[in-house]
Amino acid sequence: MQAPPPPPAPAYIYTDQWLAFDYGPAHPLRIDRLALTHELIGRLNMAQPSFPVRPADARELSLFHDPRYLDILQELSMMPQTADYYAFGLGAADNPVFPGLFEWSALLAGASLQAGELVSMLGHHVAFNMSGGMHHALPARASGFCYVNDPAVVIKDLMKRGHRVAYVDIDAHHGDGVQWAFYDTPQALTISLHQHPATLFPGTGLAEEMGRGEGKGYSVNVPLWPDSEDDIYIRCFDEVVPPVLEAFKPDYVVTQLGVDSLLSDPLANLNLTTRGYGHCLKRFRELFGDRWVALGGGGYEVVNVARGWALAWAVMLGREDELPEKLPREMCERLKLREDDQWLLDPAEKLRGRYFARAEADAKETVALIQREIFPILGAVKP
Ligand SMILES: [Zn+2]
Repeated sequence: MQAPPPPPAPAYIYTDQWLAFDYGPAHPLRIDRLALTHELIGRLNMAQPSFPVRPADARELSLFHDPRYLDILQELSMMPQTADYYAFGLGAADNPVFPGLFEWSALLAGASLQAGELVSMLGHHVAFNMSGGMHHALPARASGFCYVNDPAVVIKDLMKRGHRVAYVDIDAHHGDGVQWAFYDTPQALTISLHQHPATLFPGTGLAEEMGRGEGKGYSVNVPLWPDSEDDIYIRCFDEVVPPVLEAFKPDYVVTQLGVDSLLSDPLANLNLTTRGYGHCLKRFRELFGDRWVALGGGGYEVVNVARGWALAWAVMLGREDELPEKLPREMCERLKLREDDQWLLDPAEKLRGRYFARAEADAKETVALIQREIFPILGAVKP
């Protein structure tokens, strides 16, 4: 008897076409962070040929988005102007109207759909689209740098084919657009760990937001105060995410791997190091590493983005132990990185910022609330 063939390698998705677009010189979302991540993965000898990227079409995007809104995106993409479109979230500083914004959005959503297909139809255990994870967009409104909500589109696409899908979002911001997309249904479960809504955009994501009607218990929120750091974050993650997923038994899991939770991100203050972020990634691999659709997300300090997602990709390959402590020398020199900024993996340190004690007390209450109110609905068992 022949041994069964090994599963196809983790699927890597990348295209230089992404780099043709630009939110503008003063915007915090730098699309060139994707090129830097790709370069770092190559320098670490972890590169793989990318699957060809195709844009999503309007029919696919309308799995989640309003067709009229998609028409407006296409019009503005060809002839950028901002008058009269503020009601759609377009033209505000966060969501500038720039040439090709529809093509940019369609390309990143197409890559996410492709990641879903590679995992659900072609036998890949995991597929990684670093350009995806635009979790704030609403059906007819751009929000938080996101014009189309590719996680919601992928989840809808998997559900349409009869699958049960869980979504786990570790971006520093609440995964609001994805949560609202599935707020009334028990067929998709959303979990978001994020900085507390009283302190950060989009101002939602309290633990009390648990879903509605038949969907009650299927939206899980873990808001965390600034300065939560690795220890609090890891504890909350371990006490909530594995038991909830084990109870829900998803066919596939879509993750949003925003890296703005890391220390020194200019927009958020959770202050994780690569130890805390890497812990979540390794748990993802253990829990659902054979049915994992991995998407990017936020991250506004470009070197953090590159090292966070290089670590993520290394974990997907099962090669995280091969990572060096420091970034490659050529890269440090070109980017003129100070000695302290040259780490690929953060050195162990106890930060204990000024809000740590408050964060710790609040996190305990949050986890207790989730375990008391949501676990019985899902049949989840406290670890
Ligand atoms: Zn974010």
